[in-house]
Amino acid sequence: MYYNDNTLIYLDGEFVKANEASTDLYSQTLHYGYGVFEGIRAYATEDGTQVFKSHEHYERLKRSAELIQIPFDYDVQALVDATDELLRKNKLTDAYVRPLVFCDPNMTLARPNNVSIMICAWEWGAYLGDKQLRLTVSSYCRPHPRSIKIEAKVCGHYVNSILATNEAKDKGYDEALLLDSDGFLAEGPGANLFFEKDGVLFTPQLGNILPGITRATVLELAEELEMEVQQGLFKPNELFEADSAFYCGTAAEVIGIASVDETVFPKTWKDSLGRKLQDAYSKRVRETSNVLSKN
Ligand code: PMP
Repeated sequence: MYYNDNTLIYLDGEFVKANEASTDLYSQTLHYGYGVFEGIRAYATEDGTQVFKSHEHYERLKRSAELIQIPFDYDVQALVDATDELLRKNKLTDAYVRPLVFCDPNMTLARPNNVSIMICAWEWGAYLGDKQLRLTVSSYCRPHPRSIKIEAKVCGHYVNSILATNEAKDKGYDEALLLDSDGFLAEGPGANLFFEKDGVLFTPQLGNILPGITRATVLELAEELEMEVQQGLFKPNELFEADSAFYCGTAAEVIGIASVDETVFPKTWKDSLGRKLQDAYSKRVRETSNVLSKN
C-alpha cells in the first residue's frame, strides 16, 4: 500500500491527506496520458535524509512539460523544498518520491490552460530486486522519436513500458530490453543499459532513450574510476558478445544483468565493472552533501 490514513501528499502548494485528495475524472491526463512525472529517491544518510539529485529531477520534470507544451509555472527550488517538507511530515527516510503534473478537465486534444502538481512519497525497496536479471529482447520497440518526445518523461509513454514488461514476465523473464525503431539497443522499460566488453563500457547514446539521471551519475562515477566509456548506436549482437551488462535507473539503482534470452554473460557479477559502479553508486547516494535540515 502506498499510503495510509495519515499520509500527506503535496497538492498545488498545500499538504493534504492522501486519502482525502481527489482529482477530476475528466482530466486530460487520465484520458490521453498527457501529463509528465518524475521518480526520485531519498536515502537515509548518517546525518539525515537526502533526496538524491532533487534539482536535476525537477529540472527534467520542467523540461518534460515544456517539450510537450504543458504549462509549467512552478519554481524548481520551491518543489525541491516541498519534497523535503513532504518527507519530514511523513517521517520518511529511505523513500521513493513521485511528482506528477496533470491537466485540468478537457476532453479535446487542445493544450490545457491549467495544470496541477502533486508529489507523493512512500517506502520502496529495490524496484527490480537485488538478483541479477534475466532479460528478453522485447517484440515492442521504443516509440520513434518522431512520434513523441522521447526525452520527456510523459505518462502516456509508459504504456510501451508496461506492454514490454508484461510480455517479458509472461514469457518467464524478469524484465524486457527494448530496441529502437531502427533495431539498435535502446533501454529497459524503466532503466538505461550499459554493457562491458574487454574492459570498456558501452551505453546507447542519447537521442532514442530517456536521458536517465542515474545514467549521468554512472558516467560521472565511471570517469572518476577512470573507466573508458563509449556512447553510440549498438546492435544487439554487440550486447550478446559482451562480458557483462547492467541496468541503471532511480528505482532500479544499478543492477546486474545475468542473461539476455539464451545468452548468459561470461563474467561473474562480482568481477565486473558494473559491480564496481554499483558499489560506487550506493556510496554516492548516501554522501551527505545535501542533507535535509533536521528538526
Ligand atoms: N529509461 C526509462 C524508460 C525510464 O523510465 C527510466 C526511469 N526514469 C530510466 C530510463 C532511468 O532514468 P533515471 O535514472 O532518471 O531514473
